[in-house]
Amino acid sequence: MTVKELREKYPYLYETHLHTSQASKCARSTGAEQAIAHKEYGYTGIIVTDHNWGGNTCIDRSLPWKEWINQFFAGYREAKETGDKIGLQVFPGYEAGYGGPEFLIYGISPEWMLDHEELKEAPVSEQIKIIHTTDAIVIQAHPYREEWYIDKVRLYPDDVDGCEIVNATHSNSRSTSHNDPVFDTRAIAYAKEHGFCTTAGSDIHVNDPFGGGMAFPTKLDSLADFVKRVRNKEDYVLTNGEHWYTRCGDLIV
Ligand SMILES: [Zn+2]
Ligand SMILES: [Zn+2]
Repeated sequence: MTVKELREKYPYLYETHLHTSQASKCARSTGAEQAIAHKEYGYTGIIVTDHNWGGNTCIDRSLPWKEWINQFFAGYREAKETGDKIGLQVFPGYEAGYGGPEFLIYGISPEWMLDHEELKEAPVSEQIKIIHTTDAIVIQAHPYREEWYIDKVRLYPDDVDGCEIVNATHSNSRSTSHNDPVFDTRAIAYAKEHGFCTTAGSDIHVNDPFGGGMAFPTKLDSLADFVKRVRNKEDYVLTNGEHWYTRCGDLIV
């Protein structure tokens, strides 16, 4: 199959792992800049996954919960406002950090977060349980990334719904950090071993898209539709912006 044929079959491309400078200390572009760049690249939509209180956030952790949540979703809100004007779907999510391991949370809303302050102090498996009280999934992000800020690879196969098996930051030739495609190879084997549902994203921190993400044969109706398709292992393909893979991580082209 050629890339052209594959894109005809799966025309709707979504970025599932994206940071904005309003909430992630390591990001260099705003929600509006990210929305514009991803629309121009050809994405149908993006899910904003800024680093939460356990990760590299730039929001003051001492703020009261409601104010913290309000400021945390500023990048998402701006991306959504811009997306609505230019025709890009924008959904909220977050990347939860626990002293190294990180998890992508899909299916929550800022309003739901406001009512769940208990997330802040809960240990990791407890936070995952709380998230599972709503229609949301927990995906371990780049489970095999090795980096100074991750003390060792830690896995939670009994707690998560799945894992991110293609992270374009590891393997796209234009990425300038965390470059080692073997981090993805190991994640693919891990997901196969456990029969996990899978995602792909770019972990993009600047408004110069790698083109990574997930492509679907039909447009997503909503964030709940994304959650449903991932959870039910429906028809989609994964990409790092250069190569394309099946939902299970086998190379297509
Ligand atoms: Zn980051
Ligand atoms: Zn990230």
